[in-house]
Amino acid sequence: MDDKKYIKIKMTTPLVEMDGDEMTRILWGWIKEKLILPFVDLKTEYYDLGLLNRNATKDQVTIDAANATKRLGVGVKCATITPNRQRMEEFPELTEQWKSPNGTIRAILDGTAFRAPIVLPFIRPVVSTWKAPITVARHAYGDVYKAVDLRTSEPGTAKFVFRGDSGAEKVCDIHTSDGPAVWLAQHNTEKSIRNFARSCFQYALDTKQDLWFSCKDTISKIYDSAFKEIFQDEYQTRYQAEFERLGLKYFYTLIDDAVARAIRSEGGFIWALKNYDGDVMSDMIATAFGSLAMMTSVLVSPDGVCEFEASHGTVTKHYYRYRDGEKTSTNPMATIFAWSGALRKRGQLDNLPDLAAFGDKLESACFQVLESGVMTGDLSRLVEPGFPVKIVNSEEFLDAVAVKLRELLEKA
Ligand code: NAP
Ligand code: MG
Repeated sequence: MDDKKYIKIKMTTPLVEMDGDEMTRILWGWIKEKLILPFVDLKTEYYDLGLLNRNATKDQVTIDAANATKRLGVGVKCATITPNRQRMEEFPELTEQWKSPNGTIRAILDGTAFRAPIVLPFIRPVVSTWKAPITVARHAYGDVYKAVDLRTSEPGTAKFVFRGDSGAEKVCDIHTSDGPAVWLAQHNTEKSIRNFARSCFQYALDTKQDLWFSCKDTISKIYDSAFKEIFQDEYQTRYQAEFERLGLKYFYTLIDDAVARAIRSEGGFIWALKNYDGDVMSDMIATAFGSLAMMTSVLVSPDGVCEFEASHGTVTKHYYRYRDGEKTSTNPMATIFAWSGALRKRGQLDNLPDLAAFGDKLESACFQVLESGVMTGDLSRLVEPGFPVKIVNSEEFLDAVAVKLRELLEKA
């Protein structure tokens, strides 16, 4: 490759680079080699979050990577294995069933994950009115995910007791049941809800999109109303002026109304949802837009620290085939967009317009290659009938993007 004639794009602050596992780790290496290193004087603080290194460091590497992201402001992460029982058998050297790295990082950054589909003109979403991506922001703490539940077999009464540190008590009757029953107690904290709201407003400003928040305050008059009030309070005290200056809207509506509106909408907004609602709606939105391989994810902390990644996993089945010598057609789009997003953000923060523009050009190069019909197998199954398609393997796809990217950079 003749890279000499390029003056590589400069960086000042390093990115936090978190390497990962299996097929995505292979893609990660190729993306760097073919699409980043020839053009950018890449500066990263590298953390190997591959399963074996997490094991060797007793997962300290994950904590270090999260703290580095907090310190430097921007990170990019490869998909990683969260070991389950089956993985413990596959990797007998594991000394522990290590926790999900994403969970650890999210807890340290106290962040919210924003999931957005990469939208292509020739892959029509199931909902025909959707023209722009809908980004789902799911609150990642509490509610039913941290609930205590109980199943009882005899008649009786359940009570709800809160004992304050001052000694003051609040007690209420939940229900008196005349037979077997099930019970559930759930909670959230004001701090977590407030940080969730701040991440959402911050990300809406960063990406210049309207923000919707929806829950069920008509039924849940104290619990869900608290979410609604905290969002409104944060909006008015911190963000309203900036939203108005940018012509953006924040609005609250009931969850059922929001679902109906989302289906009728053209997309192009951020939809903040409570934990369970976000769990359910994000899978619906992802599937309706096309493919898991085209979903990106950004973890945003309340003070604006960003970690970019693909939403999909390590694509294990493809990795086993790759290991057996097969050239797989694994889609690298979401992982490329994690890199482009991180480099653009770094460029914006460090006032390096060329670096920010590089992120845009990398994405344009991908779109141009796809529009020419060159794509991985998963996408070929989703395109409009009649659209000409040439299925390629991952490396061929990345090579085609590199050619386009070179053209775009030379034009500038
Ligand atoms: P997955 O890696 O997302 O893959 C599931 C299936 O979706 C694949 O077998 C493939 O279908 C399709 N797919 C996903 N991404 C694709 C891509 N880029 N290109 C083409 N096809 C793609 O989910 P999984 O197999 O359930 O999980 C594998 C590992 O990933 C697990 O160990 C899990 O812990 C981990 N994981 C990590 C993260 C993360 O780090 N953020 C998230 C989720 C899961 P076909 O086989 O039909 O082609
Ligand atoms: Mg889900």
